[in-house]
Amino acid sequence: MSVNKINEAKINLLDAIKDIENQIQSLSQQDPLFGFISTKYIKCGRESCKCKQSPKALHGPYFYLRLEPEYKFSKYLGRKVPAGMKDRISVGTNIKELERKRKRLTSTLDDIDFV
Ligand SMILES: [Zn+2]
Repeated sequence: MSVNKINEAKINLLDAIKDIENQIQSLSQQDPLFGFISTKYIKCGRESCKCKQSPKALHGPYFYLRLEPEYKFSKYLGRKVPAGMKDRISVGTNIKELERKRKRLTSTLDDIDFV
C-alpha cells in the first residue's frame, strides 16, 4: 500500500471510530441496562399443590433481571416485565455491540500504525 492509501485508510478508520463514539454517547443518555431477562418456573412448596407432582404444573413464568458483571446480580421482577425495561436492555446491548466494533477498529488502526 502506498503512503497515501495508508493515510486514507487511517482517516476512514478514525471517522468510523468517531461515528461509533457519537452513537455510544447518544445511546448512553437513554438509561441503558446491561443484562438480560430470564424466566423461572417454581414449586410453591405446598404439599397439596399439583406442582409437587408434575413439572408441567410449575408456577410461572416469573421474570428476573440479570445484570452485568457476570450476571450474578439478579432482581426479581414478578409476573410482568416493567414497561420500558426491554427497550433499556436493547439499548445496553446496542452499546456493547458498538464497543466491540470500536475495539476491532481501534486494533486495526494500531496494526496500520506498525506498517
Ligand atoms: Zn404449587
